[in-house]
Amino acid sequence: MRLVLFDLDNTLVDRAEGFRRWAWEFCAEHRLTPDDAAWLASADHDGLAPRDDFFKAVRDRFALRETPAELLESYRERHPALIPAAPGVLTGLPRLRAAGWRMGVVTNGDAAQQLTTLLRTGVAGLVDGWAISEHEGVGKPDRRLFEIAAERCEAPLRDGWMVGDGEATDIAGGRAAGLRTVWVDRGRVWSGDEKAPDHVVADAAGAIELLLE
Ligand SMILES: [Mg+2]
Repeated sequence: MRLVLFDLDNTLVDRAEGFRRWAWEFCAEHRLTPDDAAWLASADHDGLAPRDDFFKAVRDRFALRETPAELLESYRERHPALIPAAPGVLTGLPRLRAAGWRMGVVTNGDAAQQLTTLLRTGVAGLVDGWAISEHEGVGKPDRRLFEIAAERCEAPLRDGWMVGDGEATDIAGGRAAGLRTVWVDRGRVWSGDEKAPDHVVADAAGAIELLLE
């Protein structure tokens, strides 16, 4: 039985596109401009900016009436609903299953938000299990989160694969867990801070094709 674990944000789902949609909607509601939407995308740092800091900055920049905590609560409810599956994922995962693969998701993030994303995109119904860092109390690159995901898939980590866009979390973490690695480059160049991945693809669809070869 072959196991492949996937990262969620910006691998199986297009979190960046979901953020852009959220920013447009936020700007429409608050009578802000397209330039303001671009500022939001920049301040988001591809999701890496801590959310508390982000919403303090948002409130200050636009002199909003809501508190940062209120803005964060609305965002946590709305943003996951706007994140689409990445192209080719909803058709590709069933092809992997038909070829005998077990599939899991291993993701760092807020438990409720990641679960909503899994359910709303339709990914949840196409994989065998998932492990979300906040829920499990351990995050990538810690080997334990990969092990939990593999257990949920009832498949051994041994001879398994990890696909993701994060250099330290997905690729270095996956390798340390004994997995072969596929880096989703999203048009970026490998930084060299970590040992290079086994394979590089443009997106999740490319990774699925690679595994099906
Ligand atoms: Mg990611």
